[in-house]
Amino acid sequence: MKEIKILHLYPDMLELYGDYGNVQVLKYRIESRGFKACIDEYSIGDTPPNFNDYDIVFAGGGADNEQGILAEDLIQYKDDIKQAIQNGVFFLLICGAYQLFGQYYKDVNKNIIPGLEIFEYYTEAISDRQKRCIGNIVLECDLGDIKTKIIGFENHGGQTFNISKPFGRVLFGNGNKFGDTEEGFCDKNVIATYLHGPLLSKNPVLSDYIIKYCFDRKYDEDIVLEPLNDDFENLCREQLLERFSNKT
Ligand code: GLN
Repeated sequence: MKEIKILHLYPDMLELYGDYGNVQVLKYRIESRGFKACIDEYSIGDTPPNFNDYDIVFAGGGADNEQGILAEDLIQYKDDIKQAIQNGVFFLLICGAYQLFGQYYKDVNKNIIPGLEIFEYYTEAISDRQKRCIGNIVLECDLGDIKTKIIGFENHGGQTFNISKPFGRVLFGNGNKFGDTEEGFCDKNVIATYLHGPLLSKNPVLSDYIIKYCFDRKYDEDIVLEPLNDDFENLCREQLLERFSNKT
């Protein structure tokens, strides 16, 4: 049976606003098509993972404290992660994890948490700790040939600079910085974004885009995924988009 293998990084430390739901959504949508989904978890102290064994690597958001604790552990895998990205393994990185794949994250006290330095972007917290980009957010994204609106929730003090390829154009909310027009970072098989939500439950099109990418890569095909009943998700999306419609 065809199988998609997911590696969930630091599920005990990077788990804000239901980020784990993203992994559950992937599993549900893979299994509903009659395929197998295997989920492995890795956190500090576990046997080092072989990143290339996986189809998807997922890491969620976390507070500055957790980011500081796990950065050192994550950095030991820098070369392996880089190679997995080059090999086409799909990486979905949310908020704190998004920041950790860049050059560095400078917190409100000006402490530097080193990043993996895989991408050129860097993040600095706004000096006033009361000020955070918080709230619902809507983006317009191009997923290959598919143009879609992506809905999520952001909560970050970090302001991310030097983005070469954003994930989406902001229609409602902040994005990489306060009042930004761009959100996240996206490069082929990597999506790094501030959107929690959980992101994938609100955006079935994005979930299936990732799943299709993984099947096509692994089994060298152009799979047509059996449609699922997304009526409930779509109704929810319609209502959310209407609520934010003054800008979308
Ligand atoms: N520490 C980061 C920030 O506040 C990440 C927060 C998060 O993952 N939600 O910018």
